[in-house]
Amino acid sequence: MGRQPLWRRVGFIPQITYFRPSEVPLAHLQEVCLSVEEAEAIRLKDLEGLEQEECAQRMNISRTTFSRVLSLARQKVADALLNGKAIKIEGGNFEMAVRRFRCVNGHGWDVPFEVMITSPPRFCPTCSTPSIRPLQPYGRRRDRRGERNQ
Ligand SMILES: [Zn+2]
Repeated sequence: MGRQPLWRRVGFIPQITYFRPSEVPLAHLQEVCLSVEEAEAIRLKDLEGLEQEECAQRMNISRTTFSRVLSLARQKVADALLNGKAIKIEGGNFEMAVRRFRCVNGHGWDVPFEVMITSPPRFCPTCSTPSIRPLQPYGRRRDRRGERNQ
């Protein structure tokens, strides 16, 4: 997968990527598409509560661009919530910071984003134990919401 300068960096790929209002018949259901970087903008700003400046740095984009991505993302979510539309999270121009894993025996290794979304690791490549877990990105402590540990 090639890398382009306009790709935005994300630290998290949502596990659940489709939300549907329960009372709208499928035949009448409209969908909004949220890109992965738009979801990331909401995560950083609204879930983690970071300042826009820090969000922009995390995503490797200018503050102006971040602000634009965020407003578009919020607009889509609002549209879905208030007009009863489904939300699909997919696609977008993004790259993910390498995710570091560690096994119970202390081996550590990095998993590139491309691998994370297609086939996340199940075993330690050194000792083959399935007891592995991803380390928190950015070396910072954060809460467990949205985090999946294997
Ligand atoms: Zn190991």
